[in-house]
This record gives sequence, C-alpha cells and structure tokens, in this order.
Amino acid sequence: MRTGQPEAGQDKDIDIKDDGNPRGNRSASRRSGFFTSPASLARLRRLLRSTCDEARKEETDFPLLQLTADPLAVLVATVLSQATNDRISFRAYTALRRAFPRWEDLMVAPEEKIAQIIAPAGLAGQKAHTIKAILTRLSAERGQLSLDFLRHLSGQEVRHHLLSFPGIGPKTAACVQLFSLGQVAFPVDTHIRRVAARLGLIPAKTDPARAQAILEKIIRPEDCLPLHLAMIGHGRRICRPRNPRCGECPLEPDCPGSHVPAQS
Ligand code: SF4
Repeated sequence: MRTGQPEAGQDKDIDIKDDGNPRGNRSASRRSGFFTSPASLARLRRLLRSTCDEARKEETDFPLLQLTADPLAVLVATVLSQATNDRISFRAYTALRRAFPRWEDLMVAPEEKIAQIIAPAGLAGQKAHTIKAILTRLSAERGQLSLDFLRHLSGQEVRHHLLSFPGIGPKTAACVQLFSLGQVAFPVDTHIRRVAARLGLIPAKTDPARAQAILEKIIRPEDCLPLHLAMIGHGRRICRPRNPRCGECPLEPDCPGSHVPAQS
C-alpha cells in the first residue's frame, strides 16, 4: 500500500479538478451519490472484484494479509510502507525480520544499521527511529514486545493508543485495526482517496484523515477489508491518477467522475 508521508500530506498524484473528477468528465451532478449507501458500497465491491482475475488475486496476495496474526508486525510493516509501494516496503520488512528475527534484537540494534537494511523503502532514518521508538516504549510500558493486548480494547481505545506513538497517523493505526485486529477501520491511501473522490464518496481535496472518517461511517464492517483491497487494486489498474481507463471500468455507468461522454 502506498502511503503518503507524512500521512496527512497532500496526494501529489491526484489528477482531479475541484469537483473531484478527471479532466473531461461528464456532469458530476447527474450521477453523484450513487455509491454512498452501505448497500451500494457492497455492490461497488462486487463490481470491482468482478473485473478480472487480477482483482481477486490482489485480495489474497496483499502483503499485510501475510502478517495478520501479529499486530506489531503489521504496525512495523505499515511504517515501512509510508511513501513507497507495497512491493518495495514488504521486501524491506522481510529483510529487516531476516536480520532481526526477534523484536528484542531489533529494539537494541543501532538505528544506522536498521536504516541501512530498510534503505530501499526510503525515509530510512526516520522509519528506523520510529520503529525503535515503538519497541522501546512497548518494552518500558508493557514489559514485552507485543501488541496483543490491543485485542482486548475497543476500536476507539486501540486507535487512541496507536496514535499516541510518535510517527503513527490515522492510516497506520487503521491498518493495524483492519488487518490484524478485525476491527472496523478503513485506511485511506493515495489510490483510495483518488477513487473515492471520483466516485463522489468524499468531497474533492478531502484530507486523508477526514476521508477515512467519512468512509468508516458509510462502509459496513464486513465490507471494510474487501473494499479496501478492491479500491487499491482498482486505483492501480484502472482508475489511475492520470488517464483513468473509464472505458474499461465496471463502475463507469454510475460514476460521476467518468470521462466517457454520457449518451444523450
Ligand atoms: S476509471 Fe471508473 S471509477 Fe475511475 S473515474 Fe473512470 S469511471 Fe470513475
């Protein structure tokens, strides 16, 4: 998952006008709001999943799905994913865990050494510092390097706790909740923000934290994970930042952001 850094920063890839639509779009007012009820969002997910085998494969191959048993692993992997893509960040995560299979060893490793290992993921010094700070604080406060205690807290308490770590924003916290705790959360990355704006689910230029709050209110709990994965895949393959492939899009008939001229 590509995650802008800082999390609340601007999405520089987004290529939408003030109305949230790609250049050359049809009238947004004709179709806006179609996908804004929970039931229609479930349909949205089914439509996205129906597009191709690749879409279905993405639902099972997504890197964070390999770490779901350990919320601390999801947290560290998501920190590494900030400002880079999933493939690169997951390679960095794998290299880091190969070098330090025990969290205890990673906690006491020199930041420079950690930064060297995770360098391909970018922002290596900052990410190394954040990871060490998380582990050090867990050790001091809990006496063990684990986030399993979060399983006994409410969603609100979990979010509050995760956001109290320096360098952890709403998206990273939501990834831990969604991928490893099974809680209601909808992390918003650059793809989801762009697709949601074009579909009229959020106002254009909504910042990621606000977009996350809006989407968490309207998406049914059982749809959060599949729709999160489906929207990322859709944003990568079809609803691309520039030149979205609206002519191949299964959402085109209902999308206010489509650039395909409407039939008169
Ligand atoms: S690719 Fe699909 S979702 Fe994206 S703007 Fe075009 S019609 Fe809308």
